[in-house]
Amino acid sequence: MLKNLACRFCILPVLFVLLLPGCDKKSEPVPVKNSEAKMSSSLPPAAEKTAAILWPEHIEPSHIDMELKQTSPRIYYVEGPPGTPTDNEGFMSNAGVIITNDGVVVFDALGTPSLAYRLYHLIRQVTDKPVVKVVTSHYHADHIYGLQVFKEMGAEIIAPEGARDYLASDEAENRLNERRESLFPWVNEHTYVVKPDRYISEDTTFTVGDVKLSLIVLGSTHSQGDLMVRVEPDNVLFSGDLIFDGRIPFVAGSNPEIWLQRLKELDISQINAVVPGHGAVSRNPQQALAFTRDYLEYLHHSMGEAVENLTAFEEAYAQTDWSQYESMPAFLANRVNAYFIYLRLEANSVK
Ligand SMILES: [Zn+2]
Repeated sequence: MLKNLACRFCILPVLFVLLLPGCDKKSEPVPVKNSEAKMSSSLPPAAEKTAAILWPEHIEPSHIDMELKQTSPRIYYVEGPPGTPTDNEGFMSNAGVIITNDGVVVFDALGTPSLAYRLYHLIRQVTDKPVVKVVTSHYHADHIYGLQVFKEMGAEIIAPEGARDYLASDEAENRLNERRESLFPWVNEHTYVVKPDRYISEDTTFTVGDVKLSLIVLGSTHSQGDLMVRVEPDNVLFSGDLIFDGRIPFVAGSNPEIWLQRLKELDISQINAVVPGHGAVSRNPQQALAFTRDYLEYLHHSMGEAVENLTAFEEAYAQTDWSQYESMPAFLANRVNAYFIYLRLEANSVK
């Protein structure tokens, strides 16, 4: 397996990698960084677990705590704790694991290669089947820098159509450069943005072994392109950053009107559990859907009134009753969300 990761030229951004004929996965094995010789019983439990992993030379060892939680017979996920994108070695988003009898499908790839490699080792504890596909909910930094780990193992990378726009934008490169500083050493010169093998532009269903995956394309809602995956027969929905339960969503940079519309159209009556892009699994999908929809509507309503009355943002924010949200995880994002909606409504009002 280390052989497959030994792509010395893959330190270059992927757009260039794809053009490099010499990027042959079958080059010599990479030396490992921390062997068992480095293990010490004085390490905290999480560090001890990670010290047992043979980290390839180009992947920085991570020492955070990561636990694979089972959602249903075939489905697991890891849950990033609330925080900023650079807290906790970048572990603040979720990733899903779908075990089929024909290989593993991963949903989202976490915010650093180190986290993805860590996830891979957790997957190894529940199955010895290869990771055959990674489906990404959207191309935002906190969900994609781990893709290279699975790509180098031979997995097919699947993404919504909007990822193409992200890759063509300055944002992709600028964000990577920013994270190479703010998340160093876990995002470093060896980290690159993986180009998807397959773009999905309309609702699509495919099967992997005994599992049916329905990809629900949502267009540009939370990001330039978003999708969800419904997994059958478990009837679990991986909702990306579009449905949350009891946790403040990230609204800035989204198209909140389209987002709201998509949520209203979505039929989740058959869904048993929703695994969001951040935060805990929801066993009450209708409640999660209603929470996200109500939050978006509350932002629009409260900031809309302020714009209409020509109230300055600071004053409007201070006057708004946030009591139903302020004890929730990621409430820090609320002010940014409110400001984003305020500016958007203000711009619309003068059109
Ligand atoms: Zn996210």
